[in-house]
Amino acid sequence: MKTKIAVAKGDGIGPEIMAAVLRIFEAADVQLDYEYVEMGKSYFDAGHSTGMTAQAKETIERLGLLFKGPMETPKGKGVKSINVTARKVWNTYANQRDFRSLNGVNTVFSKAGIPINLTIVRENIEDTYGGIEHLLTNDVAVGRRIITRPGSAQVIRYAFEMARRKGYTKLACGHKANIMKLTDGLFLETFQEIAKEYPDIESSDIIVDDLCMKLVSRPEQFQAIVLTNLQGDIVSDLCAGLVGGLGFAPSANIGDNISIFEAVHGTAPDIAGRGIANPTALLLSGILMLRYLGFTTAAANIENSLLYTLEQGIHTGDFGDKEIPSVNTDTFADAVIANL
Ligand code: NAD
Repeated sequence: MKTKIAVAKGDGIGPEIMAAVLRIFEAADVQLDYEYVEMGKSYFDAGHSTGMTAQAKETIERLGLLFKGPMETPKGKGVKSINVTARKVWNTYANQRDFRSLNGVNTVFSKAGIPINLTIVRENIEDTYGGIEHLLTNDVAVGRRIITRPGSAQVIRYAFEMARRKGYTKLACGHKANIMKLTDGLFLETFQEIAKEYPDIESSDIIVDDLCMKLVSRPEQFQAIVLTNLQGDIVSDLCAGLVGGLGFAPSANIGDNISIFEAVHGTAPDIAGRGIANPTALLLSGILMLRYLGFTTAAANIENSLLYTLEQGIHTGDFGDKEIPSVNTDTFADAVIANL
């Protein structure tokens, strides 16, 4: 019997890259059934304050898994990001982002023969993302940062378990506890406590600015890093740059009951509707999702054909060898399918 999941196509380039990825899944005979849910900008515009219909919420809660395209947050005060809302509503507390060098995607490090394979686990709910901000005067704005021990513990424990599952031997905690002694101090203290339960994983901590410097100079020394929400967000985009950009950055938002798989990038409004977007990050997110669901053979099959396609130099316009003409989204998907 097929496993049913919820799918939201998203805004901007979302529908284009989602169609490409689901076509690859079908060609690979992935045993999934999809229930499409109504979420995104047009549902905000239609008056749904959370950016999704009640039916979409019910479907996602029933199926427990959402595969989503990027979604636009309407600009302006009083409107919350649908992505942030979804993470909070369903308590998807761990944001796992995998970064690795891909043959055919040239970067400073690939040219130097330095392979990168690292995972960022970012706390996904707390920190400054509560949006608790106010003006004291016209010239003074104040924001609150909330870090809790249970919130820190659940994401840190997830990071250690993930490290074990992936066969990593070490996990670092990135923080700024030298300055934010109470908030980052609490996160670091929780990390050090939980590390005692995982003697097989070498644990260390590193100040986040030093971490950024080391990531751009010697990224190969890291396997997995766990961070608070905002620092994790920034450091993970830095890591996307190390492996070729946002087009290669997949992500999983993991909770105890519901998990969301999506690319790190946004709706790319500048290229939306032109059929030229790179579907790789969403496809890599889909591969993460297949592994999470236990479809390991299908995941490996699709991953191998994606890697081979990239090695062949086949690329969309946002990356790759300028000597080789770029292809559009559909032709890229066709090439992955041909290599299955
Ligand atoms: P963006 O990631 O959409 O685009 C940044 C740049 O990267 C653009 O030049 C874009 O063309 C390029 N790009 C991104 N993905 C690409 C792809 N797959 N193929 C080729 N090029 C790609 O970031 P932005 O412009 O800051 O944000 C646009 C919108 O996306 C905003 O409304 C933002 O709120 C939303 N957003 C959503 C998510 C999400 O749904 N998880 C994440 C980030 C941003």
